[in-house]
Amino acid sequence: MVNKNLTRRDILRIFGIGLLGLKATGSTSAFALVADDPREAQYELVKGASVMMGNVSVGITAVTRDRGNAKEAIGKAFDEMKRLEQLLNFYDQGSELSQINVAAGRNPVQVSREVIEVISHAMRVTRITKGAFNLAMGPPSNLWSFLKRKHVPSARERESLHSLTNPKHIIVDEENRTVFLSKPDMRIDAGGIGKGFIAEKAKQLLVEQGVSSGIISAAGDILLFGQKPNGRSWRVGVRHPRKPEEQIASLDLTDTVVSTSGDYERFFTKNGVMYHHLLDPKTLLPARDCQSVTVIGAHGALTDAMATGVFVMGPEDGLALLESSQHGEGLIVDGDGHISISPTLESRVALL
Ligand code: ADP
Ligand code: MG
Repeated sequence: MVNKNLTRRDILRIFGIGLLGLKATGSTSAFALVADDPREAQYELVKGASVMMGNVSVGITAVTRDRGNAKEAIGKAFDEMKRLEQLLNFYDQGSELSQINVAAGRNPVQVSREVIEVISHAMRVTRITKGAFNLAMGPPSNLWSFLKRKHVPSARERESLHSLTNPKHIIVDEENRTVFLSKPDMRIDAGGIGKGFIAEKAKQLLVEQGVSSGIISAAGDILLFGQKPNGRSWRVGVRHPRKPEEQIASLDLTDTVVSTSGDYERFFTKNGVMYHHLLDPKTLLPARDCQSVTVIGAHGALTDAMATGVFVMGPEDGLALLESSQHGEGLIVDGDGHISISPTLESRVALL
């Protein structure tokens, strides 16, 4: 399929991460558009899609002159994502992450290089966000059971788990490639960082395979790499946190990662109250001060974790952190729906 005379809408459809994808998954936070430009006509958009990482539809689009190579590279990228997912899946008893969890309080577990890598990224974001991003939130996430039991824990139940969520008890030995959770019943959960980490690895693989331009989209995490053929930036829409069909902003970006965390991604309602999956480690309750946070940065693991962490920090502390900008830039929708944008990003944002 050569993209001659394509309308914007066609391109959206080809990219498969526009409104169609949004409807299919109900959770896509942002989506990318390419402009309609004749200079793009000699390029093809080669696309692949797969459902993975807990029912997320992941799309890869390569902008390429070599269709065969792009197809092969996309296949390899999906294989790599599946391999990494098997290492990091909290819900899969056979994953290396689960082996670490089962050995909590007993012994260190030797793991793959990538597991050490993702935990190191996570610990860095824990430091940057002053503990708002916390890998050790497995026990409270299990207690809330957003996917199954949908239980609102009592204050007493929450209190009983506090000692298990201190990230200081995650002991990583990088040299020997081991991880030890020093308290019995601790559980680490890579749900807030794994998707971005895995997509980042897939992007690196695509680039190594000679795919120099494209998009990976995995619900709230979108990786844009390389240049568009016409040299212009990609345009990424940020979803309205309360109106799934609408966008609140569009961002003009090149070669960057956009991660969005929202309270609408996973939640349940009980007695008229909405409880969502982004838990504040201080209270073990859903963090209430934001509706969504979008972080833009260079590395998928960091933007994914930062979006979760900044969400939990809330609009004031979160914006202050993004203003220092060395850890990413971003856009925050606070609990009342007000939008704030970190200064360095302002010129590339259009509010809609
Ligand atoms: P999504 O996976 O829906 O895109 P996030 O990237 O924000 O959203 O990750 C949410 C997941 O992160 C939760 O489902 C849970 O597994 C985990 N999580 C919840 N609260 C925290 C927290 N304070 N720190 C780190 N991870 C968290
Ligand atoms: Mg995240």
